Amino acid sequence: MASKIGVYFDIQNIGGGLDIETLVTQAQEKWGDTTPVVKTVPVLADALDVITADITEKGLDGVLLCGASPRADADLYRLSVQVGHVNLREQCVLSYKNADGTVPDIRYGGAPQSVAPALLAIQARDYVNMGVVKLQKSEKPDPVAIAGVKRILIIGGGWTGLTAALEAVASGYEVALVEKTDKLGGAATVIPVGSPLASPWANKQPTNVADKIREVMGASSVKVHLNARVEKLEGQPGEFTAHIASAAGIVTVTVGAVVLASGWTELDDKYLAPMGLGKCSKVMTASRFGKLLLDGQITARRIAFVLDTTLAEDTWRDASPCASPDATPSAPENVNAQDEEKPFIKENLENIRHLAYSNAVNSVGMLRLANSVCEQTDDATQAFILYKNMTVPGIFERFYKKMQNRLGIMMTKADVTDIREVGNDVVVECKNTLLGMDFNLNVDLVVLPTGLVPTTAKDAVVEFAYRQGPDFPDMELFDGFADSNYICFPYETRRTGVYAAGCVRQPQTLDACEEDAMGAVLKAAQCIDSATRGVAVHPRSGDAAYPVFNFVRCTQCKRCTEECPFGALDDDEKGTPKPNPGRCRRCGTCFGACPERVISFADYNIDQIGSMIREVVVPKDFKNEGPRVLMLACENDAYPALDMAGMRRKAWSPYVRIIPVRCLGSVNAIWVSDAMSKGFDGVMLLGCKYGNDYQCHFVKGSEICSKRKENIAETLNRLGVQPERIEQFETAIDGYDTVSDLIDGFVDRIIEMGPNPFKGM
Ligand code: SF4
Ligand code: SF4
Repeated sequence: MASKIGVYFDIQNIGGGLDIETLVTQAQEKWGDTTPVVKTVPVLADALDVITADITEKGLDGVLLCGASPRADADLYRLSVQVGHVNLREQCVLSYKNADGTVPDIRYGGAPQSVAPALLAIQARDYVNMGVVKLQKSEKPDPVAIAGVKRILIIGGGWTGLTAALEAVASGYEVALVEKTDKLGGAATVIPVGSPLASPWANKQPTNVADKIREVMGASSVKVHLNARVEKLEGQPGEFTAHIASAAGIVTVTVGAVVLASGWTELDDKYLAPMGLGKCSKVMTASRFGKLLLDGQITARRIAFVLDTTLAEDTWRDASPCASPDATPSAPENVNAQDEEKPFIKENLENIRHLAYSNAVNSVGMLRLANSVCEQTDDATQAFILYKNMTVPGIFERFYKKMQNRLGIMMTKADVTDIREVGNDVVVECKNTLLGMDFNLNVDLVVLPTGLVPTTAKDAVVEFAYRQGPDFPDMELFDGFADSNYICFPYETRRTGVYAAGCVRQPQTLDACEEDAMGAVLKAAQCIDSATRGVAVHPRSGDAAYPVFNFVRCTQCKRCTEECPFGALDDDEKGTPKPNPGRCRRCGTCFGACPERVISFADYNIDQIGSMIREVVVPKDFKNEGPRVLMLACENDAYPALDMAGMRRKAWSPYVRIIPVRCLGSVNAIWVSDAMSKGFDGVMLLGCKYGNDYQCHFVKGSEICSKRKENIAETLNRLGVQPERIEQFETAIDGYDTVSDLIDGFVDRIIEMGPNPFKGM
């Protein structure tokens, strides 16, 4: 709890819009001995010597920096005491507009003002007071360090797992490698010569998977477990215990982190049955063709490689609603709301999507297979590649161009409308081709795409000894993929310390799997290091605080253990939570859930935000002094979007007060009650997108908040307060063009509604 706070105002960043001397006087008068230093400095970033000297001379235990957003130059201010920021630049001065909607010409860096617009001065005063009280209710956290074991468990001995093992060894880590079959190499062993793996990205290249296997088997710091599986994984990052079961029995190994590289399995044939798969022996998937080619068993000389799956899709689409397991499903990219009502489609949606997800791998793969079969037969093969979408990622474009000119390969865009056996031939009916005509191709063999389904969609590749269950949760949300936020945090699963790489994360080519393996090992190393220092690894990297429980008042309702998105909380037989700080990502969802409000972080807690809300001066005269609206903004996307809006002078209503929260999942209903009883007229919750295309950094925070919001709205309704006074909005980090309109629209609706009936009570 900071009790001697130094407050510093940055003239360069905010002086162009505010009368800073008045703010200094107001802070001195209001906070007295709590703020023994209140001063202006020409430029905050240049005032570190001044601040450090004040800390020593005045015995400060907190420093409040009033100027730019905490996102600007935050690393500069790593001081010996707690540091707070008041964002008077982006979210006050630069985003200010008058009540009548006009935007004054304010520039930061401008000459200091002696008079500020009245509502801007009030806004700045509120924010400074909120900043002081925030520091008063905050403590410097003490990290809980864990003895990080410098050993990485790698699950899966295929191309990705082997690469990960070698990368881990090169980085100084021991490795326990678990492979479920009796040999290493996985699917890569049937690709002796692959698509390009390096510059100039136009030529086939040997994969040399045998060399990788030899290297791994020869590494003294790698212990390989074949015919084995991870029967149980318990503990937390830095100190997991893996129970590895094999014919020899169970061995336990302690590891600091896990790389999940268990790969993929092939999509069930039934999804390509409309294209002849399973019905005609001359129709097969690319993966089966690859194996036969390796064994020299391909005798066909006219081969159609069909990337286009519209034929199957059209059949699925035409299928009437049905419950029969033999019925065909709808196409991945064409699934619409009506289709989703069809029972078969609904049940199999995640499987169906894998064909669409796998298109890049199949595009590059079919180019490779066509090239290989032409080479193997001394160019005596005619390979027809028929595609609707040829997806060659990045620099593979060079390989694609080379294959376009290759003798024996003919490529065209085409809608394949029928595949049927006629005598010894298979006839492929092609429409809308690039040749400007429809035609039938008579071939000996048809190769269809392979749907890559992550192993996690089918099996429990690792069983967690966690309160929330043995598997990764909500796999249906991720279509069976273990990766939990592919936009911002690739590799991360919903189990902290377990990083997915390769095709278990997303269908990808060999070169991408290698990069993935490196990335996941890097995250695993980072995780072990962070656990050793007792700080969060991501997304709040370096955060030393963790949730502390007041068990005396806990009613064992289990809401926190159930809602924690990362399974960080176990519990005892009575339901008392048992925290695992190493698994915790510091999102605060648990304390948002707790009805007793007994969970807190040293530097983020219920009382702190409640006190900040109560610190805002809410005028009683709604008509003349306007409403007050509280915004709780997620610090991951919403807060930076607001900052960027401010920088672009996308101004918003002066009646709004913004408080950043770690995630909307951390919003406790009591804050909304506090705001309403204080007299706020409305509450905005601004966070990330949720649902299937979620972007919430803590996976479910926004979604959980929306459910809590409904409950709060119901309560308000019962009390005779319009539930519309509480609204949740979604934004992304690039939503800076629209956030000000969202705010102004909400404030306009509040003005129409009139004052909060609790105001002044
Ligand atoms: S802060 Fe988040 S990750 Fe940590 S225990 Fe609470 S809900 Fe779980
Ligand atoms: S939500 Fe609160 S009261 Fe309920 S079990 Fe967790 S700590 Fe205890």
